[in-house]
Amino acid sequence: MLKVLKFGGTSVGNLERIQNVANIIKKIKDEGHDVIAVVSAMSGETNKLIEYAESFSKTPKLEEIDMLLSSGERVTSALLSIALNEQGYKATSMSGREAGIVTDNSHTKARIESIDSSKMKKAISEGNIIIVAGFQGVAMNTNRVSTLGRGGSDLTAVAIAGAIEADVCEIYTDVDGIYTTDPRIEPKAKKLEKISYDEMLELASLGAKVLQNRSVEMAKKLNVNLVSRSSFTPEVEGTLITKEENIMEKPVVSGIALDKNQVRVGMYGVTDKPGIAASIFTSLADADINVDMIVQTVGVDGATDLDFTIPTTDLEICKNVMKNFEKDARKIDYNESICKVSIVGVGMKSHTGVASKAFSSLAKENINIRIISTSEIKVSMIIDEKYAELAVRSLHEAYSLDK
Ligand code: ASP
Ligand code: MG
Repeated sequence: MLKVLKFGGTSVGNLERIQNVANIIKKIKDEGHDVIAVVSAMSGETNKLIEYAESFSKTPKLEEIDMLLSSGERVTSALLSIALNEQGYKATSMSGREAGIVTDNSHTKARIESIDSSKMKKAISEGNIIIVAGFQGVAMNTNRVSTLGRGGSDLTAVAIAGAIEADVCEIYTDVDGIYTTDPRIEPKAKKLEKISYDEMLELASLGAKVLQNRSVEMAKKLNVNLVSRSSFTPEVEGTLITKEENIMEKPVVSGIALDKNQVRVGMYGVTDKPGIAASIFTSLADADINVDMIVQTVGVDGATDLDFTIPTTDLEICKNVMKNFEKDARKIDYNESICKVSIVGVGMKSHTGVASKAFSSLAKENINIRIISTSEIKVSMIIDEKYAELAVRSLHEAYSLDK
Protein backbone atom coordinates (compact mmCIF):
# COMPACT_ATOMS: atom_id res chain seq x y z
CA MET A 1 0.00 0.00 0.00
CA LEU A 2 0.96 3.62 -0.43
CA LYS A 3 0.35 5.46 2.83
CA VAL A 4 0.42 9.17 3.45
CA LEU A 5 1.07 9.87 7.11
CA LYS A 6 0.77 13.26 8.76
CA PHE A 7 2.38 14.15 12.08
CA GLY A 8 1.18 17.26 13.89
CA GLY A 9 3.13 19.62 16.12
CA THR A 10 2.93 17.65 19.37
CA SER A 11 3.93 14.45 17.54
CA VAL A 12 7.22 16.12 16.52
CA GLY A 13 7.43 18.44 19.55
CA ASN A 14 11.02 17.57 20.52
CA LEU A 15 13.88 15.38 19.34
CA GLU A 16 12.61 12.39 21.27
CA ARG A 17 9.18 12.74 19.66
CA ILE A 18 10.82 12.99 16.22
CA GLN A 19 12.64 9.72 16.95
CA ASN A 20 9.30 8.22 17.96
CA VAL A 21 7.86 9.25 14.58
CA ALA A 22 10.88 7.73 12.84
CA ASN A 23 10.10 4.47 14.65
CA ILE A 24 6.46 4.54 13.49
CA ILE A 25 7.56 5.14 9.90
CA LYS A 26 10.21 2.40 10.05
CA LYS A 27 7.65 -0.12 11.25
CA ILE A 28 5.22 0.74 8.43
CA LYS A 29 8.04 0.59 5.87
CA ASP A 30 9.15 -2.79 7.27
CA GLU A 31 5.61 -4.07 6.76
CA GLY A 32 6.19 -3.45 3.07
CA HIS A 33 4.33 -0.17 2.49
CA ASP A 34 5.47 2.93 0.66
CA VAL A 35 5.42 6.01 2.85
CA ILE A 36 5.03 9.73 2.31
CA ALA A 37 5.08 11.53 5.65
CA VAL A 38 3.92 15.13 5.98
CA VAL A 39 5.12 16.99 9.04
CA SER A 40 4.13 20.09 10.98
CA ALA A 41 6.53 22.41 12.73
CA MET A 42 7.53 21.41 16.25
CA SER A 43 4.74 22.49 18.59
CA GLY A 44 4.85 26.18 19.51
CA GLU A 45 7.32 26.94 16.72
CA THR A 46 4.91 28.69 14.36
CA ASN A 47 3.58 30.90 17.16
CA LYS A 48 7.12 31.77 18.18
CA LEU A 49 8.03 32.81 14.64
CA ILE A 50 4.89 34.97 14.41
CA GLU A 51 5.89 36.70 17.66
CA TYR A 52 9.38 37.33 16.33
CA ALA A 53 7.96 38.99 13.24
CA GLU A 54 5.52 41.07 15.28
CA SER A 55 8.35 42.33 17.46
CA PHE A 56 9.61 44.18 14.38
CA SER A 57 6.39 45.07 12.61
CA LYS A 58 2.64 44.97 13.06
CA THR A 59 2.21 44.93 9.27
CA PRO A 60 4.92 42.73 7.83
CA LYS A 61 4.77 41.80 4.16
CA LEU A 62 2.84 38.57 3.80
CA GLU A 63 5.48 37.11 1.47
CA GLU A 64 8.02 37.52 4.28
CA ILE A 65 5.70 35.90 6.80
CA ASP A 66 5.41 32.92 4.49
CA MET A 67 9.17 32.76 4.06
CA LEU A 68 9.47 32.78 7.84
CA LEU A 69 6.69 30.37 8.80
CA SER A 70 7.47 27.80 6.13
CA SER A 71 10.86 27.29 7.79
CA GLY A 72 9.29 25.58 10.83
CA GLU A 73 8.04 22.62 8.80
CA ARG A 74 11.29 22.40 6.85
CA VAL A 75 13.25 21.95 10.05
CA THR A 76 11.16 18.96 11.08
CA SER A 77 11.18 17.35 7.65
CA ALA A 78 14.96 17.52 7.39
CA LEU A 79 15.53 16.27 10.95
CA LEU A 80 13.21 13.32 10.43
CA SER A 81 14.89 12.43 7.17
CA ILE A 82 18.35 12.68 8.76
CA ALA A 83 17.21 10.38 11.60
CA LEU A 84 15.82 7.79 9.18
CA ASN A 85 18.90 7.82 6.97
CA GLU A 86 21.16 7.32 9.98
CA GLN A 87 19.08 4.29 10.97
CA GLY A 88 19.56 2.66 7.59
CA TYR A 89 16.38 3.78 5.85
CA LYS A 90 16.44 5.58 2.53
CA ALA A 91 14.61 8.86 3.04
CA THR A 92 14.46 12.28 1.45
CA SER A 93 12.89 15.51 2.66
CA MET A 94 10.99 17.80 0.29
CA SER A 95 9.75 21.34 0.63
CA GLY A 96 6.28 22.09 -0.71
CA ARG A 97 7.89 23.36 -3.90
CA GLU A 98 9.89 20.17 -4.36
CA ALA A 99 6.77 18.11 -3.74
CA GLY A 100 5.17 19.97 -6.66
CA ILE A 101 2.54 21.88 -4.68
CA VAL A 102 1.37 24.99 -6.51
CA THR A 103 -0.97 27.44 -4.78
CA ASP A 104 -2.82 30.63 -5.62
CA ASN A 105 -1.26 33.95 -4.65
CA SER A 106 -3.02 34.57 -1.32
CA HIS A 107 0.05 34.56 0.87
CA THR A 108 -0.53 33.22 4.43
CA LYS A 109 -3.84 31.65 3.40
CA ALA A 110 -3.10 30.15 0.04
CA ARG A 111 -5.24 27.51 -1.63
CA ILE A 112 -3.67 24.55 -3.37
CA GLU A 113 -4.24 24.83 -7.12
CA SER A 114 -2.41 21.75 -8.35
CA ILE A 115 0.13 19.12 -7.40
CA ASP A 116 2.68 17.77 -9.83
CA SER A 117 3.48 14.48 -8.17
CA SER A 118 6.09 13.27 -10.65
CA LYS A 119 9.04 14.02 -8.38
CA MET A 120 7.40 12.22 -5.45
CA LYS A 121 6.55 9.24 -7.64
CA LYS A 122 10.11 8.98 -8.85
CA ALA A 123 11.50 9.14 -5.31
CA ILE A 124 9.06 6.45 -4.16
CA SER A 125 9.95 4.19 -7.08
CA GLU A 126 13.59 4.53 -6.04
CA GLY A 127 12.66 3.15 -2.63
CA ASN A 128 12.64 6.42 -0.70
CA ILE A 129 10.54 7.40 2.24
CA ILE A 130 9.48 10.98 1.49
CA ILE A 131 9.19 13.55 4.25
CA VAL A 132 7.25 16.58 3.04
CA ALA A 133 7.30 19.89 4.90
CA GLY A 134 3.61 20.55 5.46
CA PHE A 135 1.57 23.75 5.24
CA GLN A 136 3.34 25.23 2.20
CA GLY A 137 3.61 25.43 -1.54
CA VAL A 138 4.73 27.86 -4.18
CA ALA A 139 2.57 30.78 -5.29
CA MET A 140 1.86 30.47 -8.98
CA ASN A 141 2.42 34.08 -10.04
CA THR A 142 5.23 35.21 -7.79
CA ASN A 143 6.96 31.82 -7.63
CA ARG A 144 7.60 32.51 -3.93
CA VAL A 145 6.91 30.19 -1.02
CA SER A 146 3.33 30.38 0.25
CA THR A 147 1.60 28.93 3.33
CA LEU A 148 -1.86 27.42 3.60
CA GLY A 149 -3.18 28.99 6.81
CA ARG A 150 -2.99 27.73 10.38
CA GLY A 151 -3.28 23.97 10.72
CA GLY A 152 -2.54 23.67 7.00
CA SER A 153 -0.35 20.57 7.22
CA ASP A 154 -3.46 18.40 7.34
CA LEU A 155 -4.41 19.93 4.03
CA THR A 156 -0.99 19.17 2.53
CA ALA A 157 -1.36 15.52 3.54
CA VAL A 158 -4.87 15.10 2.17
CA ALA A 159 -4.05 16.91 -1.07
CA ILE A 160 -1.00 14.73 -1.65
CA ALA A 161 -2.95 11.57 -0.83
CA GLY A 162 -5.57 12.63 -3.37
CA ALA A 163 -3.08 13.59 -6.08
CA ILE A 164 -1.01 10.44 -5.76
CA GLU A 165 -4.02 8.18 -5.11
CA ALA A 166 -2.70 6.85 -1.83
CA ASP A 167 -4.60 4.01 -0.18
CA VAL A 168 -4.96 5.89 3.07
CA CYS A 169 -4.09 9.17 4.74
CA GLU A 170 -3.35 8.74 8.44
CA ILE A 171 -3.42 11.87 10.57
CA TYR A 172 -1.39 11.38 13.77
CA THR A 173 -2.11 13.73 16.68
CA ASP A 174 -2.16 13.30 20.44
CA VAL A 175 -5.69 11.82 20.50
CA ASP A 176 -6.33 8.31 19.31
CA GLY A 177 -9.45 8.91 17.22
CA ILE A 178 -12.90 10.44 17.09
CA TYR A 179 -15.10 9.87 20.11
CA THR A 180 -18.87 9.84 20.53
CA THR A 181 -18.35 12.99 22.59
CA ASP A 182 -15.57 14.77 24.47
CA PRO A 183 -14.25 12.16 26.96
CA ARG A 184 -13.33 14.97 29.38
CA ILE A 185 -17.05 15.70 29.70
CA GLU A 186 -18.36 12.14 29.48
CA PRO A 187 -15.79 9.53 30.55
CA LYS A 188 -18.06 6.85 29.06
CA ALA A 189 -17.50 8.26 25.55
CA LYS A 190 -16.51 5.55 23.08
CA LYS A 191 -14.09 5.74 20.21
CA LEU A 192 -15.79 5.36 16.84
CA GLU A 193 -14.45 2.78 14.44
CA LYS A 194 -15.80 4.56 11.37
CA ILE A 195 -17.57 7.81 10.65
CA SER A 196 -18.68 9.48 7.41
CA TYR A 197 -17.16 12.68 6.05
CA ASP A 198 -20.39 14.57 6.59
CA GLU A 199 -20.71 13.51 10.21
CA MET A 200 -17.09 14.44 10.82
CA LEU A 201 -17.66 17.87 9.26
CA GLU A 202 -20.67 18.46 11.48
CA LEU A 203 -18.84 17.28 14.58
CA ALA A 204 -15.82 19.42 13.75
CA SER A 205 -17.72 22.58 12.95
CA LEU A 206 -19.80 21.95 16.05
CA GLY A 207 -16.76 22.13 18.24
CA ALA A 208 -14.96 18.77 18.22
CA LYS A 209 -11.51 19.90 17.12
CA VAL A 210 -9.45 16.94 16.02
CA LEU A 211 -9.07 17.43 12.28
CA GLN A 212 -8.95 20.67 10.38
CA ASN A 213 -12.30 21.22 8.66
CA ARG A 214 -10.90 22.23 5.31
CA SER A 215 -8.92 19.01 5.15
CA VAL A 216 -12.00 16.88 5.81
CA GLU A 217 -13.84 18.74 3.06
CA MET A 218 -10.96 18.09 0.72
CA ALA A 219 -10.81 14.42 1.71
CA LYS A 220 -14.49 14.13 0.84
CA LYS A 221 -14.01 15.84 -2.50
CA LEU A 222 -10.97 13.75 -3.45
CA ASN A 223 -12.33 10.56 -1.91
CA VAL A 224 -9.38 10.10 0.43
CA ASN A 225 -9.81 7.60 3.27
CA LEU A 226 -8.72 9.47 6.39
CA VAL A 227 -7.66 7.90 9.66
CA SER A 228 -7.41 9.85 12.88
CA ARG A 229 -4.97 8.21 15.30
CA SER A 230 -2.29 8.96 17.88
CA SER A 231 1.50 8.96 17.59
CA PHE A 232 1.60 8.46 21.37
CA THR A 233 -0.23 5.12 21.10
CA PRO A 234 0.47 4.01 17.52
CA GLU A 235 -0.64 0.45 18.31
CA VAL A 236 -4.23 1.69 18.72
CA GLU A 237 -6.26 1.56 15.48
CA GLY A 238 -7.91 5.01 15.35
CA THR A 239 -11.05 6.12 13.52
CA LEU A 240 -11.62 5.81 9.78
CA ILE A 241 -13.35 8.78 8.14
CA THR A 242 -14.79 7.62 4.85
CA LYS A 243 -17.67 7.62 2.37
CA GLU A 244 -21.08 6.93 3.84
CA GLU A 245 -21.42 3.90 1.52
CA ASN A 246 -18.44 2.30 3.23
CA ILE A 247 -20.24 2.26 6.55
CA MET A 248 -22.49 -0.75 6.80
CA GLU A 249 -24.14 -0.26 10.12
CA LYS A 250 -25.17 3.35 10.40
CA PRO A 251 -25.96 4.39 13.96
CA VAL A 252 -28.86 6.82 14.19
CA VAL A 253 -26.73 9.15 16.28
CA SER A 254 -22.95 8.89 16.03
CA GLY A 255 -21.88 11.68 18.33
CA ILE A 256 -22.71 14.66 20.51
CA ALA A 257 -20.91 17.94 19.93
CA LEU A 258 -20.64 20.92 22.22
CA ASP A 259 -19.74 24.45 21.23
CA LYS A 260 -19.39 26.95 24.04
CA ASN A 261 -18.02 29.72 21.86
CA GLN A 262 -21.37 31.03 20.76
CA VAL A 263 -23.21 34.26 21.49
CA ARG A 264 -26.93 34.68 21.01
CA VAL A 265 -27.91 38.03 19.54
CA GLY A 266 -31.51 38.99 20.21
CA MET A 267 -33.33 41.76 18.31
CA TYR A 268 -36.71 42.57 19.76
CA GLY A 269 -39.54 44.48 18.15
CA VAL A 270 -37.98 44.59 14.72
CA THR A 271 -40.06 46.48 12.16
CA ASP A 272 -41.81 43.76 10.18
CA LYS A 273 -41.22 44.79 6.59
CA PRO A 274 -39.41 43.35 3.57
CA GLY A 275 -35.66 43.81 3.33
CA ILE A 276 -34.71 44.11 7.00
CA ALA A 277 -33.30 40.59 7.38
CA ALA A 278 -31.57 40.94 4.03
CA SER A 279 -29.77 44.11 5.04
CA ILE A 280 -28.79 42.85 8.50
CA PHE A 281 -27.36 39.57 7.30
CA THR A 282 -25.68 41.13 4.28
CA SER A 283 -23.89 43.57 6.58
CA LEU A 284 -22.84 40.73 8.90
CA ALA A 285 -21.57 38.70 5.95
CA ASP A 286 -19.65 41.70 4.63
CA ALA A 287 -17.94 41.92 8.02
CA ASP A 288 -16.99 38.24 7.66
CA ILE A 289 -19.14 37.19 10.60
CA ASN A 290 -20.17 33.59 10.55
CA VAL A 291 -23.85 33.61 11.47
CA ASP A 292 -25.05 30.19 12.49
CA MET A 293 -28.62 29.71 13.71
CA ILE A 294 -31.30 32.22 12.77
CA VAL A 295 -34.81 32.32 14.18
CA GLN A 296 -37.51 34.83 13.42
CA THR A 297 -40.78 34.74 15.30
CA VAL A 298 -44.20 35.35 13.79
CA GLY A 299 -44.82 39.07 13.56
CA VAL A 300 -47.38 40.67 15.86
CA ASP A 301 -48.66 44.23 15.35
CA GLY A 302 -46.07 44.99 12.68
CA ALA A 303 -43.12 43.89 14.80
CA THR A 304 -41.16 40.68 15.08
CA ASP A 305 -38.25 39.22 17.08
CA LEU A 306 -35.08 38.04 15.41
CA ASP A 307 -32.52 35.81 17.14
CA PHE A 308 -29.26 34.53 15.77
CA THR A 309 -25.98 33.10 16.99
CA ILE A 310 -22.40 34.04 16.13
CA PRO A 311 -18.97 32.84 17.33
CA THR A 312 -17.77 34.61 20.49
CA THR A 313 -14.69 35.82 18.63
CA ASP A 314 -16.91 37.89 16.30
CA LEU A 315 -18.82 39.61 19.10
CA GLU A 316 -17.09 43.00 19.01
CA ILE A 317 -17.31 43.35 15.23
CA CYS A 318 -20.92 42.23 15.39
CA LYS A 319 -21.79 44.90 17.97
CA ASN A 320 -20.30 47.49 15.64
CA VAL A 321 -22.31 46.28 12.69
CA MET A 322 -25.51 46.14 14.73
CA LYS A 323 -25.19 49.81 15.68
CA ASN A 324 -26.52 50.56 12.20
CA PHE A 325 -29.70 48.63 13.00
CA GLU A 326 -30.52 50.04 16.43
CA LYS A 327 -33.14 52.26 14.83
CA ASP A 328 -34.90 49.21 13.37
CA ALA A 329 -35.48 47.42 16.68
CA ARG A 330 -36.89 48.19 20.10
CA LYS A 331 -33.95 46.48 21.76
CA ILE A 332 -30.84 44.47 20.86
CA ASP A 333 -29.06 42.29 23.40
CA TYR A 334 -26.19 39.83 23.51
CA ASN A 335 -26.12 36.67 25.60
CA GLU A 336 -22.74 35.02 26.00
CA SER A 337 -23.86 32.50 28.63
CA ILE A 338 -25.26 30.07 26.11
CA CYS A 339 -23.87 27.06 24.28
CA LYS A 340 -24.84 24.82 21.43
CA VAL A 341 -25.22 21.07 21.86
CA SER A 342 -25.82 18.96 18.79
CA ILE A 343 -26.55 15.38 17.99
CA VAL A 344 -25.10 14.15 14.71
CA GLY A 345 -25.72 10.98 12.73
CA VAL A 346 -26.32 9.90 9.12
CA GLY A 347 -28.79 7.30 10.36
CA MET A 348 -31.19 10.13 11.25
CA LYS A 349 -32.16 10.42 7.62
CA SER A 350 -34.12 7.17 7.81
CA HIS A 351 -35.43 7.29 11.37
CA THR A 352 -38.27 9.11 13.08
CA GLY A 353 -38.42 10.32 16.65
CA VAL A 354 -34.73 11.17 16.81
CA ALA A 355 -35.19 14.84 17.67
CA SER A 356 -38.01 14.23 20.14
CA LYS A 357 -35.76 11.90 22.10
CA ALA A 358 -33.23 14.72 22.45
CA PHE A 359 -35.88 17.17 23.64
CA SER A 360 -37.28 14.69 26.17
CA SER A 361 -33.84 13.92 27.50
CA LEU A 362 -33.14 17.63 28.13
CA ALA A 363 -36.63 18.16 29.54
CA LYS A 364 -36.03 15.39 32.04
CA GLU A 365 -33.07 17.41 33.36
CA ASN A 366 -35.19 20.58 33.37
CA ILE A 367 -33.00 22.19 30.73
CA ASN A 368 -34.77 24.84 28.68
CA ILE A 369 -34.06 24.82 24.94
CA ARG A 370 -33.90 28.34 23.54
CA ILE A 371 -33.29 27.73 19.84
CA ILE A 372 -33.51 24.56 17.79
CA SER A 373 -32.24 24.00 14.28
CA THR A 374 -32.10 20.83 12.27
CA SER A 375 -30.51 19.52 9.10
CA GLU A 376 -30.58 16.10 7.49
CA ILE A 377 -27.95 14.70 9.82
CA LYS A 378 -28.02 16.91 12.91
CA VAL A 379 -30.17 18.56 15.52
CA SER A 380 -28.63 21.57 17.28
CA MET A 381 -29.99 23.17 20.42
CA ILE A 382 -29.05 26.41 22.14
CA ILE A 383 -29.24 26.11 25.92
CA ASP A 384 -27.84 27.96 28.94
CA GLU A 385 -24.11 27.40 29.21
CA LYS A 386 -24.30 26.22 32.82
CA TYR A 387 -26.12 23.09 31.62
CA ALA A 388 -23.62 22.27 28.87
CA GLU A 389 -21.96 19.23 30.45
CA LEU A 390 -25.17 17.88 31.90
CA ALA A 391 -26.85 18.12 28.50
CA VAL A 392 -24.00 16.32 26.76
CA ARG A 393 -24.09 13.50 29.30
CA SER A 394 -27.83 13.06 29.22
CA LEU A 395 -27.93 13.03 25.40
CA HIS A 396 -25.04 10.59 25.32
CA GLU A 397 -27.04 8.28 27.53
CA ALA A 398 -30.35 8.82 25.73
CA TYR A 399 -28.88 7.50 22.47
CA SER A 400 -26.98 4.70 24.27
CA LEU A 401 -23.66 5.93 22.90
CA ASP A 402 -21.81 4.28 25.76
CA LYS A 403 -22.94 0.84 24.61
N1 ASP B 1 2.65 24.85 11.75
C1 ASP B 1 1.42 25.34 11.22
C2 ASP B 1 0.53 25.83 12.33
O1 ASP B 1 0.90 25.74 13.50
C3 ASP B 1 0.73 24.35 10.34
C4 ASP B 1 0.31 23.06 11.01
O2 ASP B 1 0.75 22.72 12.10
O3 ASP B 1 -0.49 22.34 10.40
O4 ASP B 1 -0.53 26.31 12.08
MG1 MG C 1 -1.22 21.74 13.85
